[in-house]
Amino acid sequence: MSCLPAGTKLEDLDWVPRPRLAALRRLGLLTTGDLLRHFPRRYEDRVKFDRFPDEASEKPLCLFGIVRKTVYRRFGARRIFEARIEDEAAGVLGSPLVCRWFNMPWVQKMITGDQQIVVFGKPRLRGKQVVMEHPEFEIIEEDAGRSLHFDRITPIHPAGDGVTPRALRELIHRALEETDLSTIPLLWPGNTVPASVWNDVHFPPHSEARETARRQLVREEFFGIQLVVCSRHAAARSQGGTAKPGTGRWWAEVEKSLPFTLTPSQRRVMEEISTDLALPRRMNRLLQGDVGSGKTLVALRAMLQAAESGWQAALMAPTQILAEQHYLNFRRILDPLGIPVVLRTAARKEQPDGTPPLVIGTHALLFEKAGLERPGLLVIDEQHKFGVLQRSRLIARGDSPDVLVMTATPIPRTITQTLYGDLDVSIIREKPAGRGRIITAVREPSKLPDIIKFLRDKTAEGRQAYIVYPLIEESEKLDVKAAGVEFEKWKTLLAPATVGLVHGRLDAGEKEATMQKFRDGTLSVLVATTVIEVGVDVPNACIMLIEEAGRFGLSQIHQLRGRIGRGAEKSYCILLQEDPSGQAKEKLSVLEKTSDGFEIAEADLQLRGPGDILGTAQTGLPPLRLGDLLRDGELMTEARRVATVLLDSDPFLSRPEHRHFREFVENAAARTAVTEG
Ligand code: ADP
Ligand code: MG
Repeated sequence: MSCLPAGTKLEDLDWVPRPRLAALRRLGLLTTGDLLRHFPRRYEDRVKFDRFPDEASEKPLCLFGIVRKTVYRRFGARRIFEARIEDEAAGVLGSPLVCRWFNMPWVQKMITGDQQIVVFGKPRLRGKQVVMEHPEFEIIEEDAGRSLHFDRITPIHPAGDGVTPRALRELIHRALEETDLSTIPLLWPGNTVPASVWNDVHFPPHSEARETARRQLVREEFFGIQLVVCSRHAAARSQGGTAKPGTGRWWAEVEKSLPFTLTPSQRRVMEEISTDLALPRRMNRLLQGDVGSGKTLVALRAMLQAAESGWQAALMAPTQILAEQHYLNFRRILDPLGIPVVLRTAARKEQPDGTPPLVIGTHALLFEKAGLERPGLLVIDEQHKFGVLQRSRLIARGDSPDVLVMTATPIPRTITQTLYGDLDVSIIREKPAGRGRIITAVREPSKLPDIIKFLRDKTAEGRQAYIVYPLIEESEKLDVKAAGVEFEKWKTLLAPATVGLVHGRLDAGEKEATMQKFRDGTLSVLVATTVIEVGVDVPNACIMLIEEAGRFGLSQIHQLRGRIGRGAEKSYCILLQEDPSGQAKEKLSVLEKTSDGFEIAEADLQLRGPGDILGTAQTGLPPLRLGDLLRDGELMTEARRVATVLLDSDPFLSRPEHRHFREFVENAAARTAVTEG
């Protein structure tokens, strides 16, 4: 007992049933160590169950009962299996629960009358009946193993075809008993965890023990992430790169021509970037700054420095509209100084003579060589529209240009350290003074008549307004039609004000033409979709009406409203939302209270979880199994510190005794290559 090394192959153990081996392999479980690192995805308190509900709930419940009756029905092509479950203690007096499974014939084979059963799921009301559809369930058997599965905090491990959570629980329990837990290799340097950590994470005696154990293992998990991210950072820096000191002459001219002075933040990040560019190594930098904080000029200065040093500098925007706008903006500033700049988009390919020093385009530019013969600096605007993989592909470019990615999405620190851990970070903390305030208000559609009057008055005074509809993505035909209808409606309601329409389905030329009319004031009102979310800059536009605001995330609305409040005028952002329950109002009220993007991002994170920010990002990072980027932020910071120190103390990764650290990093690299290919 307790003598197997952690690397023992499961196929060599007689207590692992042969037919299970294939199923375990599909879960990536080959050794006892793999089993012990197969952490529960949740736990059920099978000491104290939830009470049988008599109403619906969004929170899943864990119930224990007796199967009283089962029914099998066909409903056209659908086959429905139902089990009626009673609370044993309450008996016929309690309200029973009906569990339902559609088209899952194997469930019927598993559940019969009088069994004891644990179910986990969200109760719904169907008529008067409380129902769970497709709940997770486990039959509790009166056998020797009962104490492992029942009357305790029970782990639910990620299961798969051919192996249930119950079966895994038994295997993992056995593995814990038989393995010498001190032989489990840890990624946390110089550290082993006490055997109790492994026991408590799988079979916690109580929830505090579970949390202590979890945190010990999270430190390690995070350290693994930081090892990968920090090695990438070091690798990217060591790759090629040239010094681009520039002369500062062009920028000096530009700065003189600006009608305002730079903010201290702008100056500081400009210096950081300028210094970095002048060094003979590759720059990989993230520039964070709230909407309207003036990132474009920071980019311009970096680009001029690269161009003065004899390189091409490119600015890439996520949309056609934005690329066009940057281009016009740059032309306005640079034409008087005789500095050439060209626009490259799918719609417009000016054939430049030779290699133009400054190029503006859409992200597509990245993957074309044409026109970028000597790319010295690539600036990517609005990084959040841009995948992590695209970024790593960019950084891996053979010609090793310096890279500056800019984002207006305030990213909480934990996430920056994870997703952007391979980049250096510059942050613009404040916005230019003298901006008009934005007043934000949540309103129900019943207030529309007042809102319409307000829009008519303001447009009559010469102000401009945006009316924004949620989610008219390229693929949503129906919504496009709806936008057209809404557009006609607003034209009538707001006449004589002129109204235009832009959405993602218009071709680039049409979009550009409408935007141009809005920019030059020919159009007073722009009915739009989120295509205007990023970067569009029309200072005279000071009203934004957002329809069905509840369908947007808070950060997204914050981005949207960044389109107004750009002039000195007071601005108004009206969030329209039907709200009988008051929930939407509560959520949206964060926007009424604060205009601090970081605060809003935190609130978003609390509301929606980090999944949204991490997105479907194929990061090539090991998946998080125990750690929680929200709750465990300080552990990530600690892990980053330790990883940085160790990787700096060459040759940490190349020492023979650190082989498993090196293998871990190499595996992650291989994973990235796979996801990219
Ligand atoms: P973002 O960071 O959202 O990309 P922009 O670079 O588009 O912001 O800048 C928003 C607006 O603020 C632009 O019209 C720009 O000319 C203006 N701006 C930039 N820096 C300053 C400053 N220091 N003072 C006043 N206005 C500025
Ligand atoms: Mg911008």
